Amino acid sequence: MNFGLTDEQQMIVDTVRSFVENEIYPHEDAVERSGTVPPDIAEQIKQKTLDLGFYACNFPQEVGGAGLSHLEFALVERELGRGCMALNHFFGRPQNILMACEGDQKERYLLPAVRGEKMDALAMTEPGAGSDVRGMSCAAERKGGDWVLNGTKHFISGADHADFVIVFVATGVDDTPRGPKKRIITFLVDRGTPGFTIRDGYKSVSHRGYKNMILEFDDCRLSNDQVLGAVDGGFAVMNEWLYATRITVATMSVGRARRCFDYALNYASEREQFGQKIGKYQGVSF
Ligand SMILES: Cc1cc2nc3c(=O)[nH]c(=O)nc-3n(C[C@H](O)[C@H](O)[C@H](O)COP(=O)(O)OP(=O)(O)OC[C@H]3O[C@@H](n4cnc5c(N)ncnc54)[C@H](O)[C@@H]3O)c2cc1C
Repeated sequence: MNFGLTDEQQMIVDTVRSFVENEIYPHEDAVERSGTVPPDIAEQIKQKTLDLGFYACNFPQEVGGAGLSHLEFALVERELGRGCMALNHFFGRPQNILMACEGDQKERYLLPAVRGEKMDALAMTEPGAGSDVRGMSCAAERKGGDWVLNGTKHFISGADHADFVIVFVATGVDDTPRGPKKRIITFLVDRGTPGFTIRDGYKSVSHRGYKNMILEFDDCRLSNDQVLGAVDGGFAVMNEWLYATRITVATMSVGRARRCFDYALNYASEREQFGQKIGKYQGVSF
């Protein structure tokens, strides 16, 4: 069995690697120093990704994406993993959960996200609900035909740049074989909706320029038009998204590890001690 890449897959790897080297690496020092991505650089990366045909490459062609397979998209993420996370954010990969958009949600959210006109973020995690996402306490209640949201989300990547956020909240409790679990609904919430605040999150030890944000919902009123997927079908929608994300987070980490390895290898082949390259010493060569 041949596990090698096809010519087309290799071309994808080469294209994205060269993009990262030419369009991301040159800005890394500035982001590291300032802790922010200058808006003109963000726009430039986004435009060049669009020009390259790689913006929203994780979306099918029928909605305007590049229609990459899971494997091809994992290869893209692996190459992007070599570069700074804050800058790579603008090599847009909207959440593919947006494929669950129906009716006019497609024109309001899905298509603008694929075209790079609107940016999204996705909010599951809460201060009291991380791995145990169904333990969430952020809740939506039915009031006068609308939904009213209350609660807090944290660690939300990209919410500082997002035009809208895909938010998972609880509407009640189900009895499951593993005990009571929250029933979940998904909403599309526009930045600026009354009762919805986005504020700075915590300082990360690394990932300068990348921000995790805190979202607060205080009697935030939403109509049925803002529900993504089936009412109370949020857990199924969330799981579908999570499976894909586990792979892409892993491949991105491989890209990051490869870049670290390249640095270490170069250093070991240049640095001399006791009259020879340190890479020649057995321990370092291991
Ligand atoms: C860089 C970054 C970006 C993120 N972006 C987003 C985002 O955009 N949107 C979003 O919603 N969330 C985001 N998150 C949050 C992320 O989903 C959570 O960090 C994750 O779900 C883990 O939750 P926690 O940090 O509260 O850890 P906890 O759940 O408190 O886990 C702490 C430790 O306990 C272990 N643990 C927990 N449960 C078990 C168990 N059953 N068995 C064994 N060990 C267990 C965990 O493995 C971990 O080592 C992001 C996090 C990071 C680091």
